[in-house]
Amino acid sequence: MAPRISTLILSLVFLLSIFVAVSSETDEYDDPTVKTMEAFSGYQIHEPSVQGSFSPLSVDTETLQEQIDELSTFSDAPAPSVTRVLYSEKDVQARRYIKNIMGLSGLSVREDAVGNIFGRWVGSEPELAPVSTGSHIDAIPYSGKYDGVVGVLGAIEAINVLKRSGFKPKRSVEVIMFTSEEPTRFGISCLGSRLIAGSEELAEALKKTVDGHNVSFSDAAKLAGYPNEDLSSVFLKKGSYSAFVELHIEQGPILEEEGISIGVVTAIAAPASIKVEFEGNGGHAGAVLMPKRNDAGLAAAELALAVEKHVLESGSIDTVGTVGILELHPGAINSIPSKSHLEIDTRDIDEKRRNLVIEKTHQSAISISKARDVKLSEFKIVNQDPPALSEDSIVKATELACQELNLSYKKMISRAYHDSLFMARISPMSMIFIPCYKGYSHKPEEYAAPQDMANGVSVLALTLAKLSLS
Ligand SMILES: [Zn+2]
Repeated sequence: MAPRISTLILSLVFLLSIFVAVSSETDEYDDPTVKTMEAFSGYQIHEPSVQGSFSPLSVDTETLQEQIDELSTFSDAPAPSVTRVLYSEKDVQARRYIKNIMGLSGLSVREDAVGNIFGRWVGSEPELAPVSTGSHIDAIPYSGKYDGVVGVLGAIEAINVLKRSGFKPKRSVEVIMFTSEEPTRFGISCLGSRLIAGSEELAEALKKTVDGHNVSFSDAAKLAGYPNEDLSSVFLKKGSYSAFVELHIEQGPILEEEGISIGVVTAIAAPASIKVEFEGNGGHAGAVLMPKRNDAGLAAAELALAVEKHVLESGSIDTVGTVGILELHPGAINSIPSKSHLEIDTRDIDEKRRNLVIEKTHQSAISISKARDVKLSEFKIVNQDPPALSEDSIVKATELACQELNLSYKKMISRAYHDSLFMARISPMSMIFIPCYKGYSHKPEEYAAPQDMANGVSVLALTLAKLSLS
């Protein structure tokens, strides 16, 4: 069903381009090369570097929106919610849909052992490291249809835009659909891009990883059509790409509030997560007097406040810390908590500063346990990823693209992290943000306006074009 609709749309686009080609024959340009290119591409070829000139970059927003809507139907939750979990039946169907669209756009498609999907537009110098772009299409339960998706379907459309304009890349241009950016099924975020970046640790851990229903990662992968268990085959060497640029909805309110079209990301904050457990003796809420208590719940409460204090001590607005989980055992009103469990998330764009928060939090946990005579039975740093800075040359290329397209932009920090954080380990990286309604994300109300998507795709197309010639 889905492929048939796409074929139909593509045929329509083709017919339309013939129509445009025929109707543009009266063009005043006499240069035969330009004429040929125009007739071939269906668009007027102008140098886009002249301020305010007509831009040859025309985004087929309607088709892009149709594809986004169509992709959102591969969901385990009723519309407008989207639930698409790694290697589920719907995920497999959605993957097929993406591969099909890549194929229709003339990209050569390959997949690796975990299902990262690559669609390459071969450049005139294919031996050079390609320029890459991409994002993810998995969706956490009951979320929306734009997160990640805009950066995959939008990237394919960016290539279509360049093809229609007659542009010929020197470096190949590659669109990547990353496997499992969301941690929903196996508790690991950015699974595909971490592996691409060469995480041996993760390749090893995945051999023993199971989901909430005790299905192993390798069984789930096999079932989805990925039987190759050699996960090191996914690793890509540093230098495999000359650049990586990800288009994404902002997932925050700044661009919309300030009426700015494009966010040029200069750094991605990186999270660290910590699990803490305190154990005390518990007891009856009436019978045990205050001096005799060692209350694990109060230790947790004190630590939560300590996290806030250490974060604020950094003096930077970019340092944040959250105690998102705080559980007490046995959880009864008339029982002193005998156990407490906290999960702490702290982020920064400065790794040293963030790690200092972790160190101070650890010291506080130790001193609180001593003062309250509870046992600090666990203090585990679950992950501690380094933040990433965008590459100057890519930021400049994107800024230039915005100027040439007459679009307002601002430099900003990505406070959520993305596959780009891991791509930064093997490639120069940057990101392009577009506004989204009220900054909503990870819920059904998530929305990006067609014009904003069109702006993002144009800027991405022009950025890729510049990078492919450099
Ligand atoms: Zn995302």
